[in-house]
Amino acid sequence: ATADTGGPTIFDKIVSKEIPSSVVYEDDKVLAFRDINPQAPVHVLVIPKVRDGLTGLSKAEPRHAEILGQLLYAAKVVAEKEGLANGYRVVINDGAEGCQSVYHLHLHVLGGRQLKWPPG
Ligand code: 5GP
Repeated sequence: ATADTGGPTIFDKIVSKEIPSSVVYEDDKVLAFRDINPQAPVHVLVIPKVRDGLTGLSKAEPRHAEILGQLLYAAKVVAEKEGLANGYRVVINDGAEGCQSVYHLHLHVLGGRQLKWPPG
């Protein structure tokens, strides 16, 4: 199982473009790129370029409120760009029981097929 070590993650190398990714949206604070192991026809990850202690949502502090809003708004922009007019899902996995595997906060934007509820 993965754990929150607070150390660097693969997403740092994606932000620095040391590791290539398929970028869907980018601004000064936020990067959105396609998940390498997509769980739906559209599966995009939306991350803050600077982690600033946000290894996961459970570590959020009042100072993170603005970037949290920017990430959620970027998820909406991504969904629109990806043509998900019939609906989509935004997910944050947190911690071991939430199946989080990368400890750099990220939103999953999933769509392009009928999703099921509740998830597993
Ligand atoms: P989590 O399980 O932490 O919520 O989601 C981490 C996601 O990052 C997974 O869906 C996984 O497929 C994705 N991922 C892990 N490594 C890479 C990578 O190097 N490139 C990309 N594009 N996605 C990755």
